[in-house]
Amino acid sequence: MTEVKSHFIDKEGMGGSMRIYKFGGTSLGSAGRIKKVAAIIAGALEHDKIIIVVSAIHRVTDLLLESAAKACSGDCGYRVTLNEIDHLHHSIAGDLFSGDILDSVTVTIRSELSELNDFVHGVFLLRELSEKSLARVLSYGERLSARLVSSYLQEQHIVSFYLDAREVIVTDTNYADALVDHIASELKIKKRLASFDGVPVVTGFIAAAPDGTVTTLGRGGSDYTASIIGSAIGAREIWIWTDVDGFFSADPKRVRDARILPFITYAEAMELSHAGAKVLHPLAVQPAMKAGIPVLIKNSFNTTAEGTRIERSMPPDISRTLPVTGLSSINKVVLLNLSGSGMVGVPGIASRLFSCLALNRINIIFISQASSEQSITLAINPSQAAKAKKILEEEFFSEIAFRQIDPLVIRRNLAMIAVVGNNMSGHPGVSAQLFETLGKNGINVIAVAQGANEMNISFVIDSLHEDKALNCIHESFFLSQRKVHLFIAGTGTIARSLIGQISAHRHNLQKDNDLDVVVCGMANTGNIALDDNGIDLQHWQSALVPRKEHHDIEGYLHLIKERNLHNTIFVDCTASTKVAEIYPDLLLGNISVVTANKLGMAGHWPLYRRIKDAQRKSNARFLYETNVGAGLPIINTLHDLKNSGDKIISIEGVLSGTLSFIFNELRKGGRFSEIVRRAQQAGYTEPDPRDDLSGADFARKFLILGRELGYTLEYGDVVCESLVPPEYRGQMPVAEFLDRLSSVDEWFSAETENAAKDGMTIAYAGEIRNGKASIGVKRVPLSSPIAGLSGSENMVVFTTERYLATPLVVRGPGAGGEVTAGGVFADILRIASYLV
Ligand code: ASP
Ligand code: MG
Repeated sequence: MTEVKSHFIDKEGMGGSMRIYKFGGTSLGSAGRIKKVAAIIAGALEHDKIIIVVSAIHRVTDLLLESAAKACSGDCGYRVTLNEIDHLHHSIAGDLFSGDILDSVTVTIRSELSELNDFVHGVFLLRELSEKSLARVLSYGERLSARLVSSYLQEQHIVSFYLDAREVIVTDTNYADALVDHIASELKIKKRLASFDGVPVVTGFIAAAPDGTVTTLGRGGSDYTASIIGSAIGAREIWIWTDVDGFFSADPKRVRDARILPFITYAEAMELSHAGAKVLHPLAVQPAMKAGIPVLIKNSFNTTAEGTRIERSMPPDISRTLPVTGLSSINKVVLLNLSGSGMVGVPGIASRLFSCLALNRINIIFISQASSEQSITLAINPSQAAKAKKILEEEFFSEIAFRQIDPLVIRRNLAMIAVVGNNMSGHPGVSAQLFETLGKNGINVIAVAQGANEMNISFVIDSLHEDKALNCIHESFFLSQRKVHLFIAGTGTIARSLIGQISAHRHNLQKDNDLDVVVCGMANTGNIALDDNGIDLQHWQSALVPRKEHHDIEGYLHLIKERNLHNTIFVDCTASTKVAEIYPDLLLGNISVVTANKLGMAGHWPLYRRIKDAQRKSNARFLYETNVGAGLPIINTLHDLKNSGDKIISIEGVLSGTLSFIFNELRKGGRFSEIVRRAQQAGYTEPDPRDDLSGADFARKFLILGRELGYTLEYGDVVCESLVPPEYRGQMPVAEFLDRLSSVDEWFSAETENAAKDGMTIAYAGEIRNGKASIGVKRVPLSSPIAGLSGSENMVVFTTERYLATPLVVRGPGAGGEVTAGGVFADILRIASYLV
């Protein structure tokens, strides 16, 4: 043994030179972990005096609970559970010790374990488990871990002794969650620790009622033990050693970008712990705060991490610019709603409500009452919901019977989120930002509470959206860079170009626009790739895997909804009606849509209507600029004209690159059938040129423009002249069609010549005027912008009240992977700037 140091704590609080080190269950989870803890202690002893507080070994409290519950229900399996506890401790002892020490430790733990066995057997025989008996059962966890740790310190030549907290912490007889008698406890602690030799290893979590029976401080209560002891002796600091680096701005398991908080105030730590942060027991802050003792959260698995320091106020050299410090959430709460006209202006209802819940020890997590006084909403723990309902129904029996108060309403499957920060106070805009973010992500807020200290805004939402809410709020308050999550349908030309463009430009967007465009999904009919953190855009093809389940677009939709990521945008790069049919579902699920597929906006009227209705009801956006003229700004221009009060007299235009090319060449004096053949060989047409010559795709674009102008049009209402003679439609092979097409050459040449005599030319063009849409071969003056088209250019000519003498012209390439993808990308960015 090394030199024995004696410690004395006098009445003035000589503890000022002491640190309390509390180790949680995972920090003691194995022999290896305990050795690591001993090393931490040995290191600390070189310059500090410390008192150790321990939790039970990882999982042991749960196993004890399980064995007792099984025994009480008459399930012999309780023995198996006890054996597991037995084995765990013996095997750790076997790994830590050898020889005589092992023998003596084995004797000690065997005696504790045999007591435990007898006791649980008693529970089994009686089939009765009171909170009192359960507290006793649970106490063995800490009793065993403290024995092991203290013995191991001895074995490492660190003088140490076991200290049972039942000797020093006094509570009432509320066995499961006992109330500490701080005055009595402080006296006992001071007396017991007035002078001692070596390092005390104190059992956390357990205490004793005045009659000496075992009580517990509630799950996770060892932190509280540490704080009680630390404040009683006036320790210098209380270090809580756990398995995380400290308090985070949000739960890192749920929010990937959560960051460590190096400093928080006592008040913030309390708010965050009460609202579900698992780092520290909610009650543990109080004694430390009262005594002004700093609490540190440290990671025993990562000892070099700074951890979080909790103090009364921030150190002066730390300036905090953000209004919000952290978020936490309780993922299961129940809302109780007491409402009715009989509550208005009647004093005493709230008092009765709270008193009867308090009398029955029902803990209220959240309260909200609006100024109409018509209803009071409370959130409580689901395990207490049934009891609370019964109690309240009894209490307000006569009011409910006389219909002054409505039958009590209980809502389940809810989560409560708290947004916490000292700096929120007097900082306008925090709640605006909070609720705007939630709203844009389609998260409905069911109840809200904020106290006048303004450092905690708590709200209740459907628990389905908990992760999404945490992520979007966290991003909104803590990160300079915002994310949008894309799910792309289709992997053809447009999708490929889009991926290429995103991949090339992503870095600039991050840098210049603080925006990260993350492609989380890609799918075609056979394959799918999904990654919430972003598919590697350089190698997206290899990320695609065959779809084993979740087939079709519905399967994809299901997967997207299941992920429920914030700022989600669905990008349709297909040409499928089935895909267009899910737009209403997406929008109603608050997922924005960008589409290059016209089959939605040019689909049957009922589908079009459903999309429009969904768009109106949704907070999500729907953009489809590329449905007409690919990347050319046609839909946006039309909206701008309309929304700014201009009156649109007509829209004319050429919205087929193929037909544009054919007529531009014709004007130079070529033969129609030869031009078509050339166009086909150059890949300007669909594989079957009749698909272009029929004008169907062109007509759909005019249908969309007509609908945008407010006309109720079906596809059949657009008068469409097909350039395919009726006898060449149907099954005729493409080659034969091209051979026979020369039969119309004369007609086109003659038309062109005749028109020229009148200073005109012919073009295949569309027009909307007075609610009528038509497309076909038209004569246009040579001075018309349409007559000046070349190559495969598209053009739209808006004649409006403001653009009357000189119409507004939009002209440029109206097809092609790159320009279409560019238009889709621009729509994505437009939605992104709305969302973030
Ligand atoms: N062992 C107790 C529990 O698991 C107390 C603690 O770990 O702090 O709840
Ligand atoms: Mg714990």
